[in-house]
Amino acid sequence: MKAKCLCGDIEIEAADNNDVGLCHCDMCRRWTGGPMFAVHCGTDVEFSGLTPARYQSSDWAERGFCPNCGTTLFYFLLPTKEYIHPVGRSVSR
Ligand SMILES: [Zn+2]
Ligand SMILES: [Zn+2]
Repeated sequence: MKAKCLCGDIEIEAADNNDVGLCHCDMCRRWTGGPMFAVHCGTDVEFSGLTPARYQSSDWAERGFCPNCGTTLFYFLLPTKEYIHPVGRSVSR
């Protein structure tokens, strides 16, 4: 699967995965403006272009975004190094 941010400065590549989850927590709603539909991409995710900016939103996770256009790019679980991507950006090929 391939995805990119709004401005195109960051591209993401991950293995195909159809395991889509939905999170309604306060932080995801604040971050995305609604429930976050997300696809689990595991630990093997590649980024090209700009380095994503990271914000540590809790003791166990970071949230990544494009430093240029602000697109939400991933939720990153620190203990397992697993990336979870907003599905709308992650399903394009
Ligand atoms: Zn961007
Ligand atoms: Zn959440």
